[in-house]
Amino acid sequence: MNIDWSKLGFHYTETDYIVRSAFHGTWVNGELKGEWQEPYATRDKYLHLHVSATSLQYGQEAFEGLKAFRGVDGKIRVFRWEENAKRMQQSALGLKMAAVPTEVFGKAIRLALVKNIAFVPPYETGATLYFRPLLIGTTPRLGVGPGQDYEFIVIPSPIGPYYPGAYHCTSFVVNRHVDRAAQFGTGQFKVGGNYAASFRATEAAHLEGMDCMFLDSKTHRYIDECSAANFIGIKGDEYITPRSSAILPSITNNSLMTLAKEMGLKVVRRKVRLEELADMQEAAACGTACVISPIDKVVDVDKGVIYRIQSQPGPKLTQLYHNLQDIQYGRIPDKHHWCEVFEE
Ligand SMILES: *Cc1c(COP(=O)(O)O)cnc(C)c1O
Repeated sequence: MNIDWSKLGFHYTETDYIVRSAFHGTWVNGELKGEWQEPYATRDKYLHLHVSATSLQYGQEAFEGLKAFRGVDGKIRVFRWEENAKRMQQSALGLKMAAVPTEVFGKAIRLALVKNIAFVPPYETGATLYFRPLLIGTTPRLGVGPGQDYEFIVIPSPIGPYYPGAYHCTSFVVNRHVDRAAQFGTGQFKVGGNYAASFRATEAAHLEGMDCMFLDSKTHRYIDECSAANFIGIKGDEYITPRSSAILPSITNNSLMTLAKEMGLKVVRRKVRLEELADMQEAAACGTACVISPIDKVVDVDKGVIYRIQSQPGPKLTQLYHNLQDIQYGRIPDKHHWCEVFEE
């Protein structure tokens, strides 16, 4: 293994092992009964999957994303993986798939870490070992409906720092012509289908050098999400984040809300009208990949309005950004017990 840590971006870098576990069950009165196999590590990165598998035919697929950080003390910290496990269980319910128990999820993450320990980047690089847990339906089916066989896979990949240079702002463009998710659809679940559905909008935004902001699909008046990240705004001493049935509950946002309260901010979760951007002093997208990605402006092409929020990352969100990273890298005490610590 010979990795130039400085060249890592957010692309896939193969590690030695992936971890797999299969489930075989039967549907009994609308409930799927069965057992998950003990997770095992394998060097084989290919699946022997039936061409009629329900993941391929009907989109029975969910995923997660989380990171292991090499701390300032040399120890490795995996951030809030139990929350990822719980969220994947919700996604499984959402698509009528078998849920991976938290215990199996945890075993798989630990095994993926231990087997690929050499791929956890050194502290100084700002790079991390990213885990992509994946859940797919493997039952061959032609008739429309959920299967009874599933595969859970953890795919590790070292990734570079989100901000290789300076922490900076990104611009967003609103799209009312492509919706990411329906009001009571699958927006609250982390499933591949939501992503495929958003590509027309995100790719169009990228052509303009921006990212895509999604509004609620019913009225197109309220902010839903920023590409694949939650929205947060600062108005006075309020930390405002949208409440919507189509938003993915971000673990980063959840953590930031806790830290915001500790900073003395008032955390408000409610519907957020797009026009409210005009009254916000700071705004950002948040998620595992970036932690916080400050927003300088939001362009509403349909209405001919540009909301200019800030030209540089603002003080409150910047403080939150450092605060969360300090916990993840072990620079300050982890009083909420968010990190599972591993020593080599
Ligand atoms: C993964 C994801 C997020 C961020 O969630 P985190 O748990 O903070 O990484 C936000 N929105 C969408 C649509 C996502 O898929």
